[in-house]
Amino acid sequence: MLNIRVEKAKTLKELPGAENPLKFGTIFTDHMFLMDYETGKGWHDARIVPYAPLQLEPSAMVFHYGQEMFEGLKAYKTEDGRTLLFRPQKNIERANRSNRRLCIPEINEEDFLDALKAIVKTDERWIPTKPGTSLYIRPFVIATDPFLGVRPSDRYLFIIILSPVGAYYPEGLNPVKIWIEDEYVRAVKGGIGEAKTGGNYVASLASQVKAHDEGYSQVLWLDGVERKYIEEVGAMNIFFKINGKIVTPMLNGSILPGVTRASVIELCREWGYEVEERRISVDELYEAGKDGSLEEVFGTGTAAVISPVGHLRFEDHVLQIKDGGIGPVSQKLYDTITGIQLGKLPDTNHWTVEVR
Ligand SMILES: *Cc1c(COP(=O)(O)O)cnc(C)c1O
Repeated sequence: MLNIRVEKAKTLKELPGAENPLKFGTIFTDHMFLMDYETGKGWHDARIVPYAPLQLEPSAMVFHYGQEMFEGLKAYKTEDGRTLLFRPQKNIERANRSNRRLCIPEINEEDFLDALKAIVKTDERWIPTKPGTSLYIRPFVIATDPFLGVRPSDRYLFIIILSPVGAYYPEGLNPVKIWIEDEYVRAVKGGIGEAKTGGNYVASLASQVKAHDEGYSQVLWLDGVERKYIEEVGAMNIFFKINGKIVTPMLNGSILPGVTRASVIELCREWGYEVEERRISVDELYEAGKDGSLEEVFGTGTAAVISPVGHLRFEDHVLQIKDGGIGPVSQKLYDTITGIQLGKLPDTNHWTVEVR
């Protein structure tokens, strides 16, 4: 059991009212979790303190060379008042894979889970209960050594902050328009694409701005070498239903291995679908769109869970997916995963972890 020192906030913030639409990532809870690392000492001084600005040296290495890892998961309130996390072990394992790639010291998995549970328990009153809402959990590590040379830092800070988030689709699942990027690339095999780190996001901004200007909400990335094969969306993995089969790009070193992606693959296989993890080219996708075998397209990620795609654009070629509505597999996946997360459906795969 991780020994966590707790310093409670003297005054607690007012909770957002039920009428507040809770814009993603704008409101933060009363407390945060912190833990320090120093070479020779290891991770130490785990503590929960009032949420407040950090004091860091301007020379802290994270500001200059981006040595940073982050995660994202959610806590849910069930109708009978229990607090559930969805597959936190998967996030913890992925955090340490990211850490290894980024030369950040690994965090003991049990300590990580203790920290998640402790901070969520401390700010449990912040978990919203309206349908589709949840408490977003953002664990991250930053390099804090005050040093301008290039090498792995000797000091780090592990932080967990919490933010109540509203329903991603207040009016039900809503298909999005996606821009297939033909100019920039997000990641290449051998790079940091499979680590969850800020660097991948800054690499994607220029393209995102361009796509937004063109009226598209998300960018779909192609492989960085041949610019031919589909990789993933900004913060989502991508799935296609072609001729009754579920197809998703295989993990190739430049794609982020999503927890939602893994869950979707497992569920589809349980339901008897053939699931193919393989390379899929834009050409194949457009062919399938033209001959009518492309039945559904959807993104998967913690924020939206399932995000149906109604429209794709590559260069000047627009591809409309069926009637632009929500496919039956997309809807069933959404209903099943959110049902498990909210404790409404039996959790036969033991995906949820209760915070007591
Ligand atoms: C976090 C993330 C995803 C989705 O992963 P989940 O674990 O399902 O939330 C997909 N792509 C990128 C680039 C990501 O950062």
